[in-house]
Amino acid sequence: MKNIGFIGLGIMGKPMVLNLLKADFSVFVLEKSAAASEVKLAGAELCASPSILVQSVDLVITMLPDSPEVEAVLYGDDGIIRHMKSGQIFVDMSTISPLTTKKIHSDLAKYGVEALDAPVSGGQVGAEAATLSIMVGGSSKAFNQALPIFQAMGKNIVHIGVAGAGQITKACNQMIVGMTIQAVSEAFTLANQAGVDLEKMREVLLGGFAQSRILDLHGQRIIDRNFKPGFKIKLHKKDMNIALETGNALNVDLIGTAQVAQQMSKAVEMGNGELDHSSLVLLLEK
Ligand code: NAD
Repeated sequence: MKNIGFIGLGIMGKPMVLNLLKADFSVFVLEKSAAASEVKLAGAELCASPSILVQSVDLVITMLPDSPEVEAVLYGDDGIIRHMKSGQIFVDMSTISPLTTKKIHSDLAKYGVEALDAPVSGGQVGAEAATLSIMVGGSSKAFNQALPIFQAMGKNIVHIGVAGAGQITKACNQMIVGMTIQAVSEAFTLANQAGVDLEKMREVLLGGFAQSRILDLHGQRIIDRNFKPGFKIKLHKKDMNIALETGNALNVDLIGTAQVAQQMSKAVEMGNGELDHSSLVLLLEK
């Protein structure tokens, strides 16, 4: 598995491709993608169409915003499902619905193609440093074949279970991150209103039981008023809705998730969808 097709060169996809190239994989991308010329300079091959890309590779990775985009790449005009052959592997590293994921796995199986759902956590920083956590659903055989590729992009790589298990795990991750951002935002807004120094508060809390990467990184973002994404709030809203849909299907009442999802919807409605998810604090300040 040396030749890799990569579709979706956004905030996450571009640094992931650069790390694959650094690890000596051959990477093929679509020439119309936003960052194509940048990754070409680092050694990526540009392909004129999805069918040409698929013919050149052993494994295809997608890193796209949501289920509709992954479905468009698979099933749309010149969709790659019609070009994939037995022995190739399809790996979706985007965060999408577990239900869509299961359908993709079973549709590809009809072509003799194995699929893995392999969403990631660690953000842009983790994508750049090749330290992503990667949570994988699918067969052990496909996981073991893809493992060296994952190791070029991440550090904490776990085969969770069958098709969809990676996406369920990612939905749980997003619930914890979303609710923690809300907690940090409320604490910082309250402290600010009371005239407490936010830098000193962050510093002392980082040494106690409330310590978290969210308090660390997003606490600093709130202090610096730095809401450049990072992770766009509109994408986190999408993930909270995936968690709610999954909770609904499994009869689990996700009270906190529902409240934070509502806050994220409000943030998108007020025009902040493209800002980092730490900008959830702006709603409280308003
Ligand atoms: P992004 O919006 O920066 O990038 C998405 C890329 O997909 C863009 O370059 C866009 O041009 C491309 N694209 C969209 N539709 C396409 C199509 N049909 N064909 C080819 N390319 C297409 O998003 P991102 O932040 O890189 O996130 C990608 C995925 O990773 C999302 O599912 C997100 O939830 C997840 N994720 C993001 C982060 C983060 O911190 N940004 C962290 C973990 C997981």
